Amino acid sequence: MGKHLVVQKFGGSSLANVERIQSVAQRVVSYKKRKRDLVVVVSALGDTTDELVALAHKINAEPPEREMDMLLSTGEQISVSLLAMAIHKLGFEAISFTGAQVGIITDTTHTRARIIRINTEKIREELRNGKIVIVAGFQGVTLNQDITTLGRGGSDLTAVALAKELSADECEIYTDVEGIFTTDPRIEPKARKIDAITYDEMLEMASLGAQVMQARSIEVAKKFNVPIHVRSSFNTVNGTMIVKEVKRMEDALVTGITINRNEAKITICNVPDQPGVAAKIFKELSEGGVNVDMIVQNVSHTRKTDISFTVSKAELAKTRKIARKVCREINAEDILENQGVARVSIVGVGMKTHPGVAARMFDALAKHRINIEMISTSDISISCIIKKRYAEAAVKALHEKFKLG
Ligand code: ASP
Ligand code: MG
Repeated sequence: MGKHLVVQKFGGSSLANVERIQSVAQRVVSYKKRKRDLVVVVSALGDTTDELVALAHKINAEPPEREMDMLLSTGEQISVSLLAMAIHKLGFEAISFTGAQVGIITDTTHTRARIIRINTEKIREELRNGKIVIVAGFQGVTLNQDITTLGRGGSDLTAVALAKELSADECEIYTDVEGIFTTDPRIEPKARKIDAITYDEMLEMASLGAQVMQARSIEVAKKFNVPIHVRSSFNTVNGTMIVKEVKRMEDALVTGITINRNEAKITICNVPDQPGVAAKIFKELSEGGVNVDMIVQNVSHTRKTDISFTVSKAELAKTRKIARKVCREINAEDILENQGVARVSIVGVGMKTHPGVAARMFDALAKHRINIEMISTSDISISCIIKKRYAEAAVKALHEKFKLG
C-alpha cells in the first residue's frame, strides 16, 4: 500500500501575491512533514485569466479558440513554477508540470475540452522520488499536441480527476471562503457554513449560481465518488465536505439558496400556436450554441402565444440575433428583452420527500410582495425569476422562511 496521498487545489485568490504563494508553500510543506504524498493543483494567480481574456479581446473580438487556450494556459504555468520555487526555498523538493507534461489528454473542443484520460505514470514516479508534484490546473493536451483548457474554473476539474486517477485518500479544494454556505454571506450575514452537502445538491447549487466550485468537477466527483473537502486557504478550520450522502439528524427541507443575476429573459411575442414552432425556435438556438435555461409558454386564447426563456447574459448577443431571425421565419410579432431579472433558487434533497416546499417558497416571496415571473423545478430545486431589485430581499426572506440561519 502506498502512502497517504492528498490532492490539494489552490484557487487564484489563494495565490494572489507573493505572501500568499509563500503561505500556500508553507501549508503544502506542513502536510509533507506529516509524511503525506502530495499532488498540488493550482489556478492562475489572482485575476490573471480574466486579464488575459480582456487582453485577447483588445486584439480580436472573436479570437480563435485554439489560440485562446494557448494564451490562457500560460496563467497556470506561472503559478506552478512560482509555487515550486517557494517550496524549494523552504528546503523541500517540488517539481512542476503543465497539463501536457503529465499527460492530461483531452478531446479537441477548445476552451471547454473534456478529459479523455490521464497518464499518471510521471506523477507516480516523482512521488516515489519523494517530490511534491505541482500540476497546472485547467489545461490538457489533445492527441495532436494542441493545448486545451477545461472551461472556466477548470482547475477544480483537474484536481478531482487527478484524485480519482491516483486513488487519492483526500481531495482538498482551497479557496477564499471557509466552505459552502447556506447562501451568499455578503447578502445574508446570517448565512451558515454547511458541514456536509451531497454531490447532487452541490451540483444544483453550482449550476444555479453558487460560485465556489466548477459544476463539471462535481459531476466527475459524483460519478467516481470522490469526496471533496472545500476549505479556506487562510486558516485551518474544517470547511464543507461534498459527499454522496449526508445523514442529517432532522431532514432539512432546504440546504441552500442561490442567486443568479447573470441571466436575461427573452420573450417572443405572438407566436402562432401550432405544432413545430417551439421545436424550431429551440433547435435554432441550440444549433447556434445558446444554452437556454428556463422556458415558459403561456396558454393561448387567440391561437397566438408568448414564449419566454432565459439565457446567460454572455450569450445575449448571440441569442438576440438568432431570435430575430426565427421571429421573422415563424411570423411571430416581436422580441422583448429584459436584463433586469434575477433567479433565486432553493436547493435541498429534503424536498424530494416533503410536499409543500414550493408553496412555502411562494408564500415567503408573496409576504414581501415580490412578484414571480417564471418558475422552474427539478427534483431537488425550485427556481423563480423575479425583478433584480428584489433579489437580496428574496434571498433573506427565503433564508428566514426555511430556518437556515
Ligand atoms: N484560471 C482558470 C479560470 O480562472 C481556471 C481556474 O481558476 O480554475 O477560470
Ligand atoms: Mg480562477
